[in-house]
Amino acid sequence: MTLNPSGWRPSTPTNDAPGDQPTVTGNRALQLEEPLLFERGSYDQTGVDIEAVALDEARLGGLARGRDIGLPGLSEPEAVRHYTRLSRQNYAIDLGLFPLGSCTMKHNPRLNEKVARMPGFADIHPLQPQETVQGALELIESLAGWLLTLTGMQSVAMSPKAGAHGELCGLLCIRAALEARGDAREVVLVPESAHGTNPATAAFAGYRVENIPANAAGRVDLDALKARLGPDVAAVMITNPNTCGLFEPDMIAISEAVHAAGGLVYCDGANFNAIVGKVRPGDLGIDAMHINLHKTFSTPHGGGGPGAGPVVLSKALGPFAPLPFVTRDSDGYRLVEEESAGDEHPQAFGRMVAFHGQMGMFTRALSYILSHGADGLRQVAEDAVLNANYILRSLEDVLDAPFAKSGPCMHEAIFSDRGFGGGLSTIDLAKALIDEGFHPMTMYFPLVVHGAMLVEPTETESRAALDQFIAAMRSIAERAKAGDQSLKAAPVFAPRRRLDETLAARKPVLAYKEAVPSAGEAPTPSEQGGR
Ligand SMILES: *Cc1c(COP(=O)(O)O)cnc(C)c1O
Repeated sequence: MTLNPSGWRPSTPTNDAPGDQPTVTGNRALQLEEPLLFERGSYDQTGVDIEAVALDEARLGGLARGRDIGLPGLSEPEAVRHYTRLSRQNYAIDLGLFPLGSCTMKHNPRLNEKVARMPGFADIHPLQPQETVQGALELIESLAGWLLTLTGMQSVAMSPKAGAHGELCGLLCIRAALEARGDAREVVLVPESAHGTNPATAAFAGYRVENIPANAAGRVDLDALKARLGPDVAAVMITNPNTCGLFEPDMIAISEAVHAAGGLVYCDGANFNAIVGKVRPGDLGIDAMHINLHKTFSTPHGGGGPGAGPVVLSKALGPFAPLPFVTRDSDGYRLVEEESAGDEHPQAFGRMVAFHGQMGMFTRALSYILSHGADGLRQVAEDAVLNANYILRSLEDVLDAPFAKSGPCMHEAIFSDRGFGGGLSTIDLAKALIDEGFHPMTMYFPLVVHGAMLVEPTETESRAALDQFIAAMRSIAERAKAGDQSLKAAPVFAPRRRLDETLAARKPVLAYKEAVPSAGEAPTPSEQGGR
């Protein structure tokens, strides 16, 4: 039985712009509608031609399948088209500006990909004898060296596999250091504007989380922090530059106060892109900081791979870093892996991962670092900050920019929905941005700004691209301030209109639910029902 022999479906009225003439196919010019594979294919059809096998006796006994497997049959071109059409409905960093603040969605140079795919890096196995992977170990060691130089720190744990994983690694080092001195403490202080992973990590590591308020300028309130410090505070977690896109100028004073009270300083280094080559966290008194290789050193989320979150550590925390680590002696490079290797790294708190970390990310990050060089990395930070300030100053007359008066921003510009009319909010502006062909910025985060819009252009956008984005933003912002209700209908030109996001988040439909027909019996069209 064929569900939908020619593959087209009538257009769904909900997806038509007001006043639009629906097309017969549901397609809009080159934007092609695409049903699910299950709706497109059929159960009794197959894309491959295999002769039936005549068996004398089946030897599967009770394990023989009694029902059809329920997978739709499609020819190769049908399957290829399905995935190609879906891929064209994606927005990607290789398609256009991706201004997601807090994510550093920068261009991912092809050189990195080429290097990461070299067989000597891509096709090795973590259990291979170490003398056969000396180049890979050298790469990890060289990258570690760059990270230490750039941050001015003492040691680095390379294995954590994301920013949040690095936070956990850092806090476990802090816990181990405090316990080693017989001083178990209970509280971790986190600023109000922190990324959600910070309090989550602290809680996961067994600490009680308390908020530190921000001052009117969007920075940590130093007096409030000092007033809260005491013998129960294990650490503070500070993001610098912070999540409002501002540098924390009191960082040295914060570190001194925390150290004087016997605590340790964790820095969320996800925003290192803004200061790489300009500021060394080690000079600011920081004890532990993760670096999102997949933000600062390219391969943004969606860049096709996993992340990596190495943690740089101060002298106080280095001895507690997890295994494994790469070391070099007269025989070459060697991995110190055994927890029982007591004499080499006796205070290691354990390990974070089964093997050594994300090799593919290490390769990409080192390619990025070497192709930029020290001067190029400094320029990355300067251009990222310049681009963000260009956006801030180009929009502050049409959008409320709560911290614009405190001076320049760092790598991201923040706006609020103050002044929008007619019940409109940030979501309406963001949806209209989709119609203009842009991925929306980060919305409603950080929580300290009402209806926050966090825009991070990154250093890789040209002036022309920024100007086009600014023109779109200005036009939508004017409409929002005028209370233009047509914004509530946006996006009008997207493959899907405005969805019920709450319902989708609360009751996600993750599986195609349909009765799998029993052997030899295909479902009738009426049984196919809706999705
Ligand atoms: C991205 C980010 C994190 C978390 O990093 P992941 O790699 O996504 O786990 C933490 N803090 C800040 C400020 C971030 O931007």
